[in-house]
Amino acid sequence: MRKKKVAVVGAGFVGSTAAYTMLMNNTADEIVLIDINRGKAEGDALDMNHGMSFLPPVKFYSGWYGDCADAALVVLTAGAAQKPGESRMDLLGRNLRVFDDILSQLLPNLAPDAVLLTVTNPVDVLTQYVLERSGLPASRVMGSGTVLDTSRLKWAIAGHIGIDPRDVKAFVIGEHGDTEVAAFSAATVSGMRLDQYCAQCPEDSCDALRELSKLHGEVRDAAYGIIEKKGATYYAVALAVNRIAQAVLNDQKAILTVSGLVDGPYGIRGVCLSLPRVVGAGGMERLLEVPYDEEEARQLRHSAETIREAYRVAGAAAGK
Ligand code: NAD
Repeated sequence: MRKKKVAVVGAGFVGSTAAYTMLMNNTADEIVLIDINRGKAEGDALDMNHGMSFLPPVKFYSGWYGDCADAALVVLTAGAAQKPGESRMDLLGRNLRVFDDILSQLLPNLAPDAVLLTVTNPVDVLTQYVLERSGLPASRVMGSGTVLDTSRLKWAIAGHIGIDPRDVKAFVIGEHGDTEVAAFSAATVSGMRLDQYCAQCPEDSCDALRELSKLHGEVRDAAYGIIEKKGATYYAVALAVNRIAQAVLNDQKAILTVSGLVDGPYGIRGVCLSLPRVVGAGGMERLLEVPYDEEEARQLRHSAETIREAYRVAGAAAGK
């Protein structure tokens, strides 16, 4: 049985909270935290180790890229984060330079069957960059994509119809960013479409159907609001990373809207974006071609073009 080891690159808000969340959920047997600011990674590792007497045993330490050689999953969270008013795409130039630095040290140290998970923004463009630079099979290079946005959407729908968010099936697809698409046509509750579910509700007891575009806007712009209030988002994304890690380390075949290469479906070719995929030990093992309605499919193609153009412009600027 392979070791359940995760390397987290980036011990900032997102990386350290993701590592802590994995620790609390007993997701991995071994976690190594890597950061250019070695003191921060060392400090966080000590801080978390001081709570080990309250938890099932996990080997948790700060390290460097040589420690990735036996990691089943490497999570990339290092780099600049949005400041108030900045979009995710605004981070691209800065984070491509960070990724150049990381990949030059990580790739020679990667286990042969490791899965790479990019979380740093803009996550779709950086996932594509990791895929291209690493030369790894597309199935093993993914981004956290819209796993977080999908959770936000389920929570928002659940709030309107008064049920547990875990009982809502819904997807946000496309870019993790301003062009993302809330695929309401594929949203279900207990096997019923939203309109079928709402038709059974007592009159005026729920306003979900009237509020779909407002719900979508709230989900799409959620990060801007949180960053305005407290400077960063990290708890929910850490839970999303933990969920993806559980799927990979335990070969769960979970359906998650991770970001990865799309080559054909919906008329989209050669670009990384989020769609529901089966995630297991091999990474993204299958893409599910859900029949979205025409308008959603059109918006998805627009999202793909936005990511493609950002990738092209960034590549041209970097002379790549
Ligand atoms: P942060 O500033 O708290 O942490 C970034 C860390 O990266 C710092 O500790 C820094 O020292 C480290 N770092 C920088 N350059 C490095 C290098 N070359 N090598 C190793 N480490 C390096 O930022 P944060 O709030 O943790 O956000 C990190 C990223 O995650 C941002 O790009 C942010 O936009 C993104 N994010 C993504 C999602 C998502 O759903 N995909 C959600 C929230 C945040």
